Amino acid sequence: MRRTRISSRSRQSVDAQTLGKLARRLSESGSRLEQQLWQRRLIELINDRIGRRDDDAVEAALDDLARSNQPAYDELADLAESCAESTVVEIDGQPHDALLLVLPLLAWSRYRLPTTTLAMPVCDSLRAHVTGHLLARDARIALADYLFSIDQLPEAFADVRRQIEQLGDAAAEGITLHIDSKKLREPVAMLADTRYLLIGIAARQGSALYHWQESGVDPDSKIAALAAFSEQVAAVLQPAMTGCRFRVLPPNAFHASLRYADRELREFSLEAAVSYLKLAYDFAPGALTAAYGVFEDSSGASGGEVRIGLAKSNQDDDVIEGIVWPLLGDDDEQTMDEVDKALKTLSVNRAVAHAHRFPLEFCDDCGAPMFPNAAGHVVHAEPPEEAEDRPAAPLH
Ligand SMILES: [Zn+2]
Repeated sequence: MRRTRISSRSRQSVDAQTLGKLARRLSESGSRLEQQLWQRRLIELINDRIGRRDDDAVEAALDDLARSNQPAYDELADLAESCAESTVVEIDGQPHDALLLVLPLLAWSRYRLPTTTLAMPVCDSLRAHVTGHLLARDARIALADYLFSIDQLPEAFADVRRQIEQLGDAAAEGITLHIDSKKLREPVAMLADTRYLLIGIAARQGSALYHWQESGVDPDSKIAALAAFSEQVAAVLQPAMTGCRFRVLPPNAFHASLRYADRELREFSLEAAVSYLKLAYDFAPGALTAAYGVFEDSSGASGGEVRIGLAKSNQDDDVIEGIVWPLLGDDDEQTMDEVDKALKTLSVNRAVAHAHRFPLEFCDDCGAPMFPNAAGHVVHAEPPEEAEDRPAAPLH
């Protein structure tokens, strides 16, 4: 028993070293020909390990490169993501490339945002819109019948691969993939958040995935196709999103789509908070002050974020609603400018930018993030006194 474990661990470290070496050489390549050869060897090794549900070597190599070589890290992360989100399925005896797509929605509500199984007619309708607006003529599609929150989506490379394998098989059979919601985590409740649909598409190897990639089709027809698709999908999903305001984002490959949705959610969350204060308490944007500043983790374990505290304009000690705007690798100053611009767009009366940095603090009792007030202190967001009929106020 012990021997197997040692030999498996040492094999992983050999694999991780090999992946690291190949990624370094790939990042140094000066020609497409050389790049393709390194990529081919990397893809073969990554696919073999992910296919065997073994992420350890890839993760170990990424950890090492993150500390030692950023360009090589980017190359390896890019390949690992694209290997995880795609697979090959056989349809009618022919190998087809299958790709995992995500269709994200940004949503907010005074009530709990849904995570739910979608009714069969909704799935059929979504499937028809993906086929009609997006797919190449001979490409196939399968949908998962569930509206996911971020913490319910697969995270590890091997789990992402398992998801596209299941959807690829469903596409080959022409069926909808049923998701067992009992196995999913309960999402964290937020005023504004993202919801996701998972879609697998499959096309014969080497042929077009999307309609606008087919020969003779104007590549720019993508723009009108996505606009029409989003509009139709919003109408189809309306019944599942009762009590929510939501926006459909364009679908894309799994990892790229999650990153895009994270960025779009930032300004959307601010809009949602301002709209919520108007809807719940009749506080117009013109009567609000926003105080904001950069919060950073002194240990460096997590990326920084801008936190925005909203209050009535004459109450500089209060925060009645708070918004987190993660930096996601962006420059601090540029992000502060973006927040300022977003506040102006929303016609918030007064914006107070704090130049000093705050520590990344959370409430000891409930774990909620703490927000800056206009006076420059970090406080707990508390609903306004007008909200006496609202039971959700923290009691500490
Ligand atoms: Zn608390």
